[in-house]
Amino acid sequence: MAPKAVKGKPKAKSHQDSGRLLKRKRGEEQISDLVKRVEELDIKTSLKSFSDLPLSEPTASGLSASHYKTLTDIQARAISHGLKGRDILGAAKTGSGKTLAFLVPVIENLYRKKWTELDGLGALILSPTRELAIQIFEQLRKIGRNHHFSAGLIIGGKSLREEQERMGRMNILVCTPGRMLQHLDQTAMFETNNLQMLVLDEADRILDMGFQKTVDAIIDHLPKQRQTMLFSATQTKKVGDLARLSLQDPEYVSVHEAADAATPSTLQQHYTVIPLPQKIDTLWSFIRANLKAKTIVFLSSGKQVRYCYEALRHLQPGISLLHLHGRQKQGGRLDVTTKFSQAQHAVLFATDVVARGLDFPAVDWVIQLDCPEDADTYIHRVGRTARYERVGRAVLFLDPSEEKGFLKQLEHKKVPIVRINIKSNKQHSVKNQLQNMCFKDPELKYLGQKAFISYVKSIYVQKDKEVFKIKELPLEEYAQSLGLPGAPRIKFIKGEDAKERKNESWRMAHMSSDDDSDAEKKNKKDEKEVRTRYDRMFERRNQGVLAEHYSKLINDDGTMVATGTKDTGKDVDDEADEDADFLSVKRRFAAGDEELGQKVDSAGSGSDSDSDSDVEPADKDTTGTKKVLLDGQDPLLIDSKRREKLLKSKKKLLKFKGKGTKLVYDDEGNAHEMYEMEDEEMFKARGDAKTQREKFLEGETERTRQADIEDKEVMREKRREKKEKRKARERAEIAAEAEEEGDFQGLSHLPHVPFEIPGSDSESGEQESRPSKKQRVSFADKEIDEEKPSKSKKTSGKSIETLGDLEALASGLLG
Ligand code: ADP
Ligand code: MG
Repeated sequence: MAPKAVKGKPKAKSHQDSGRLLKRKRGEEQISDLVKRVEELDIKTSLKSFSDLPLSEPTASGLSASHYKTLTDIQARAISHGLKGRDILGAAKTGSGKTLAFLVPVIENLYRKKWTELDGLGALILSPTRELAIQIFEQLRKIGRNHHFSAGLIIGGKSLREEQERMGRMNILVCTPGRMLQHLDQTAMFETNNLQMLVLDEADRILDMGFQKTVDAIIDHLPKQRQTMLFSATQTKKVGDLARLSLQDPEYVSVHEAADAATPSTLQQHYTVIPLPQKIDTLWSFIRANLKAKTIVFLSSGKQVRYCYEALRHLQPGISLLHLHGRQKQGGRLDVTTKFSQAQHAVLFATDVVARGLDFPAVDWVIQLDCPEDADTYIHRVGRTARYERVGRAVLFLDPSEEKGFLKQLEHKKVPIVRINIKSNKQHSVKNQLQNMCFKDPELKYLGQKAFISYVKSIYVQKDKEVFKIKELPLEEYAQSLGLPGAPRIKFIKGEDAKERKNESWRMAHMSSDDDSDAEKKNKKDEKEVRTRYDRMFERRNQGVLAEHYSKLINDDGTMVATGTKDTGKDVDDEADEDADFLSVKRRFAAGDEELGQKVDSAGSGSDSDSDSDVEPADKDTTGTKKVLLDGQDPLLIDSKRREKLLKSKKKLLKFKGKGTKLVYDDEGNAHEMYEMEDEEMFKARGDAKTQREKFLEGETERTRQADIEDKEVMREKRREKKEKRKARERAEIAAEAEEEGDFQGLSHLPHVPFEIPGSDSESGEQESRPSKKQRVSFADKEIDEEKPSKSKKTSGKSIETLGDLEALASGLLG
């Protein structure tokens, strides 16, 4: 935080002022010198250390205090482009220092622009997970310790209100997409009009399906004129992605493209082929053999993580076990990351929430117990070890059915991996112990069942069917290996739904991996589901399925995959709804079928059709059902009392009669059909059918496109207006509240710059060159005096008539 106004003796004041002026002048000279050096910087010269770069003194000292001296490859190449304000697509292996490659330009560019608190938000950094956002923020604090910017961390899991109060004053924000959008939509004092830089760390992940809507909405709020920087070890090159971000002639900085491998050279990578039912035994044996190591074990879902953690913890392996997944509470997640970072020896069971970007120090092993969804995820998972010149080892467990398909993918992505075999005499089976434990402890058994179901689910929804072949997995044995008496029964959704599921597969597969995309999933679900009364009826009928499904698993085609003892443990709880998503009924009307249902219903009314001359007498077939013929339409079957009743209602029957033909009359009184065939000659005169059709299509396409653009523009305008109105209203409310209180001092308890990079207040050297906050206020508004009490008197005396007055008052109070 900026220092309070320096109290000095009145005599010394003028002397002090001139000193301050001198310092400020010197500071400005330094900045203009820096601007010149950046302009002159030759992008082609190879740079070795941070001191070769044209950096400001506060950044340079922050870097050296954090012990950063030599540049990594990506830093050497990307920072110069970043300093020059260019858009960047940065790609470099995991652990190669990409974070500094964007943080240094972010800080420097704002510094050179003499960014102050009054300029508002200057840079926005997006991260796919909370943990990564925290880590980026920490690094920003470290290297920016000598700067005066205020930086904030916006990741959810905290009270929105608390964050809202602070948002308006931030210069740099590190955030997760979901929470950011929430603020953009809801926080009155938060504006992004002045934004200079947008950074997407793990860009390909942020731009993929899970975040699509959120990120597009965020981008909609940001000014188009800005610098955009994208970084990832598996960088996106999709034109569509780049168009979404309106990148301007981006520089593609890929430092390891020519390398033999996509993974760090200090990483040893192995895989072992182990049938699914032996996985947990092998994992146990591995942990027992590596008690003096730091290991991350990746699993496919939060429930898998939970069960493995609980089950192995009960077996007391002799090393501390931790677990992390997206459904844990924020406090717990933070605890686990801190504990694992500090631990010398520990095993962390985790979902892909940990796969990207996290920089746990000195991880020895990365074990992938469940096969990752694709080679990119593999690269990020193993990237948690062998970071920045350290060594590391990784082992991938593959079921025989997964081996061929997945190895092909790895080879394609240039991942060097070697097969190892686990000696069977080194293996220790825990199956019996687990079964014993599950028998005694129903809660553990329940977790096991959940884990089993979520595993099967995760395999089922995978897109890559060459790798994930659910029918080839020995699921019954797998269930037993988890300590369960048999495979829980699961039904899979068929037909139309299955297709939809497939499209959703990505999100489903990531169900526990990321909280931020979870929120989006929920929205989508709400939007999409149009439930008919038949859906509800069948749902009611299948309430028992959940209990039943613990006994057998059913294939896509209705055949049994595995049999097992029927198990009626706990079956419904808070998580059950999620499983229920996955359950289906065998018969299901498609959405459009409701109409059909009604037809069938109403058609079947009795043959007492004498009342209606249009209704042909009903035939009775041998089974006793009657048929009614209506105006040459298909006969209606009448097989119930309800249908018979229907025949009595003319109104209802209208539905089943053919529609009349509308005629129009010309001047001579001749009747014509509404649409008559055109004369062939005339038609031909306008060119042949094909070109006419093409012309028509072209015309229509253009018309629709135009209409679409206009619609979108109108929508955007409306949204903006609405937001502006709301924000203005809220500002007015804030001001009114403040006025009611009468005592403006009362507001001074609000923390001024809550997330400000610490250390900035202690630096007296910089104090003079940049105005203190009180001074900044006086720069902006001479009306508001430096002395607070008199300020309150003056402002409260002013009459508030217009919205502008209110805004000025509010910003005066909060500034
Ligand atoms: P990436 O984002 O490429 O996976 P990070 O930015 O997380 O990599 O950096 C990985 C590790 O390397 C971090 O611990 C970081 O502190 C360290 N590091 C980055 N740059 C340097 C550097 N120039 N000198 C020394 N260590 C560095
Ligand atoms: Mg990173």
